[in-house]
Amino acid sequence: MASKVRLYVDHPLGEAQTVPLGRDQAHYLFGVMRLGAGAVLSLINSRDGEWDAQVVQVGKKGGVLICRAQTAPLQSPPDLWFLFAPIRKERTVFIVEKAVEMGAARIMPVQSDFTQAANRIRQEKLQAHAIEAAEQCGGTFVPPVDDLAKLSRVLAAWPADRQLMFCDEALIGDPVGLPDLPGPWAILIGPEGGFSPAERDRLRSLPFAHPVSLGPRILRADTAAVAALTVWQQALGDWR
Ligand code: SAM
Repeated sequence: MASKVRLYVDHPLGEAQTVPLGRDQAHYLFGVMRLGAGAVLSLINSRDGEWDAQVVQVGKKGGVLICRAQTAPLQSPPDLWFLFAPIRKERTVFIVEKAVEMGAARIMPVQSDFTQAANRIRQEKLQAHAIEAAEQCGGTFVPPVDDLAKLSRVLAAWPADRQLMFCDEALIGDPVGLPDLPGPWAILIGPEGGFSPAERDRLRSLPFAHPVSLGPRILRADTAAVAALTVWQQALGDWR
């Protein structure tokens, strides 16, 4: 049996709640997935868990669904921000997808000193990839993807109670692990060129930033992203 179509909607979900569809959603459900009136699909909205919904109105430019029953509660990820310097387009998409699957609560692309200007991001495209990743992996929460921000500015406005796992490639050969500190956390991954000496000095001087090694080999940024999320989830997150 084909698996049920899952769709993210920015609309409340609840008993007998109707959900209007926009043009793109109608095209996807009725044009691409060939659903008709009476078909049942799953809805998520990052707030109300997962709901079974039925198609009650089909149109080319829109449609209407009605929620029938909750099929899963909301599963919020741990309070983990994921900061990364964008790299080439398809690898940046990979990083965003993996951050969603691995349970980041907020995705923050940052421009560091060695971030290539050509690797600018389109926030709305990355957000769409995040939605798709959550729809596909059975998640009920879609992390917001921020617009690109300068790393220096993000650090200047950093909340004092949030720890930062600073993945520092300069620690190769020096196995520094993650400190066992409670509370909200963030992970920071640098670009292909790594962190500049000035950035590294600044990061190392910040009381909330903890330089951490990801082993004896230099990892590509996309590999480092998955490795860091694995290390954090295993030590402090919801894998325990
Ligand atoms: N060009 C840099 C160099 O040769 O030293 C490597 C940068 S690496 C491709 C991209 C990012 O992945 C780094 O900035 C860091 O955040 C992370 N990273 C890769 N390998 C790592 C390691 N062994 N330990 C900690 N972080 C690592």
